[in-house]
Amino acid sequence: MHAVEIIEKKRDGLVLTDEEITWFIDAATHGDLPDYQLAAWLMAVYLKGMSREETVSLTLAMATSGDLLDLSDLTDYAVDKHSSGGVGDKTTLVVLPLVASCGVLCAKMSGRGLGMSGGTLDKLEAIAGYNVNLSGDEFRRLARENGLVLAGQSMQLAPADGKLYAMRDVTGTVPSLPLIASSIMSKKIAAGANGIVLDVKVGSGAFMKNLESAQALAQTMVDIGHDAGRNVIAAISDMNQPLGEAVGNALEVAEAIETLHGGGPDDFRAHCLQIAAYMLRLAGRGERWADPAEVEALLVGQLEGGAAFGKFRQMVAAQGGDVRLVDDPSLLPQAEIVETITAETGGCVQRVAAHDVAHAAFELGAGREKKTDDIDLAVGVKIHVKVGDAVEAGAPLVTIYANDEAKIPAARAYLNHALRVSDQQVEPLPLFYDVLYSD
Ligand code: URA
Repeated sequence: MHAVEIIEKKRDGLVLTDEEITWFIDAATHGDLPDYQLAAWLMAVYLKGMSREETVSLTLAMATSGDLLDLSDLTDYAVDKHSSGGVGDKTTLVVLPLVASCGVLCAKMSGRGLGMSGGTLDKLEAIAGYNVNLSGDEFRRLARENGLVLAGQSMQLAPADGKLYAMRDVTGTVPSLPLIASSIMSKKIAAGANGIVLDVKVGSGAFMKNLESAQALAQTMVDIGHDAGRNVIAAISDMNQPLGEAVGNALEVAEAIETLHGGGPDDFRAHCLQIAAYMLRLAGRGERWADPAEVEALLVGQLEGGAAFGKFRQMVAAQGGDVRLVDDPSLLPQAEIVETITAETGGCVQRVAAHDVAHAAFELGAGREKKTDDIDLAVGVKIHVKVGDAVEAGAPLVTIYANDEAKIPAARAYLNHALRVSDQQVEPLPLFYDVLYSD
């Protein structure tokens, strides 16, 4: 096969065969393709799109480009979750132990954050000693012994995605539906999932800014899952305002722990219960956990009765973390400067723009621009209001947690822009907009 012919075919809007796509991805993965040919092909895909069959071929070619995590000796049906990323999204920290406490194996390889705030691994590292770098054997041993393990990638899962993503990032080809959908689904399939819950965020703080594009992405991923023999539930959730109150690594861990004890902010708790319910629904395969009311009662019982927190604590201990910090979250990294911004006038909260809140946390040092940048685990913000809330003059709107006085003015500027209170009445934002099923 010739790369140039495959590029020309896509350039002309023709449909590539499974063999052509597999050959091309294989060549790209093994460095047998010059960067300019990969770049040209990605641009052709960006401009001409891909059919459903082509997108499935691309996903499977990427999924099988490296190691495959095989969990079949531990469970006959592995369930995983993925979030397309949002501000204050610490859902995995709650949902994984919660679902595991119901007896469902949760063995997840997670990522670090690039951008405004840390990823799941960064958040976990706010717990001193927590080891995210497990060997493949240790990962399996903990999955077998505890039914719960949450670590970084110890295997080469879908290396083709890493190659393609790096090239997309510098060629203006990131926002392509088939490329995004295949990128996400290839990693989930390589990680051994039979059932996948996708949390597709929509809004100012999300990758997808409007409902139509989020629905199109969700539908493409559900179709890939269906055609690849996986069960998928894709929930479309709001990311116009942050999820929960805390944005920043240690602050988010503390909020997750509060939620695991049955408390936590109402929106975050409800969000976690819904995502956990979808995971149980998939794991139950129509034989168990099909009744939403029963599942909710079960999950609430696991939170309020301490089983979910117990599972989280067991995971932290098993991965070398200092459990004193989860027993007493005031021992987590703490910021030196704490300042609260209050409402100048009373009224109704019009806006808590997630994008600006993320910028504020980033200015304080909660995120990283380059892979090698350090993160300040203690800093961030806590938002005390939601869109639609009534507030009085002087009510606390947001608290800043900082370690460097000089960084506060830029964070304040973003927060002043993020928050708006006026006389006009506005409706609260929904938590979820839509849900799509592969079956
Ligand atoms: N997240 C991914 O994993 N891949 C994309 O292409 C976009 C978002």
